[in-house]
Amino acid sequence: MDGRGLQGARSARVVIRPDDLQGAARLLTRVSDPRAAVCLAASWMLRADVAELWEPRNDGLALAASTEEDRFERSPPDIAAQVMRTGESAQVAGPGGQVLAEPVPRGRRAVAALLVRWRRPVEEIDETSRACLSLLAAQAALAIERADLADELARQAETDPLTGVANRRGLARALERDLAASRRTNRNLAVAVLDLDHFKAFNDTHGHPTGDLLLRNAVRAWREHLRAGDMLARYGGEEFVVVLPDAGDAVAAVRAIERVRVATPGVSASAGVALWDRREPAAHLIRRADGALYEAKRGGRDRTVLAAPLTAVSLPSS
Ligand code: GH3
Ligand code: MG
Ligand code: MG
Repeated sequence: MDGRGLQGARSARVVIRPDDLQGAARLLTRVSDPRAAVCLAASWMLRADVAELWEPRNDGLALAASTEEDRFERSPPDIAAQVMRTGESAQVAGPGGQVLAEPVPRGRRAVAALLVRWRRPVEEIDETSRACLSLLAAQAALAIERADLADELARQAETDPLTGVANRRGLARALERDLAASRRTNRNLAVAVLDLDHFKAFNDTHGHPTGDLLLRNAVRAWREHLRAGDMLARYGGEEFVVVLPDAGDAVAAVRAIERVRVATPGVSASAGVALWDRREPAAHLIRRADGALYEAKRGGRDRTVLAAPLTAVSLPSS
């Protein structure tokens, strides 16, 4: 705070009281989002107006938690970047009040910055308050690590370990999302089921590890022919599902899947395509595509078959 900003303003001391500590401890255990809990505890303990946690995201620092709502669009304050860079706590004062910032440590790195702001001028922040903020920063480090771990587990639960694409669970979630988006945008969504031809024979001839490699290579080759919004998932075994959220008409959908299918390395593949009728459930749509795949196999393999449009009669009443 510069001298002029202080003139006429009532300044305060920040001194920790036992009540503050107890309140903070309660907050830490009762708030379910650990990042938010740390912010609440910090603002409570230091009797600050706002507490914020800034963390690196794709391009720069982003507000990961705050005691104030609707603040997520702001650009990060310089002091947040500063404490992350130096690993030392820092303090700045400006016309809007005062900020105390603490780096959030993981090993030797700072993985975030914990900030508390007072809108009123603050004359002195005692050592205990500073120590408490540093303790809470350590708590924030644990919260972030735990959240990262949970994110990673959630990602793994939806990913096929062999090929790295979504598994059936990941597909289910993404398909529901895409169907909802398609309902809003009125775009034509198509689903295809892709299956390698005579893959059992391939395994028998070349061995299972070579079969695994082929699955991985097939995924890599197919991906090159998919657009950014398209989704590829391993449905099971050597069967994959492709979701085209913006497929155009039936002809365009078949053409798009043909491009993917013929890119299969080493062996041929068959595909069944179904255009979503805007009403049928996801499972029914996949079943129709699977039925078309069955027709492709029956017709001699190495081809794509389009499922017949859904008639009112064939839609289950559920
Ligand atoms: P079709 O042309 O009718 O699809 O014949 P297919 O032999 O490809 O189909 P089938 O369903 O009879 O056999 C599927 C084979 O896929 C059998 C199984 O060993 C193989 N397979 C499934 N998952 C994996 C995997 O993760 N790795 C390898 N290497 N093979 C797998
Ligand atoms: Mg097969
Ligand atoms: Mg199969």
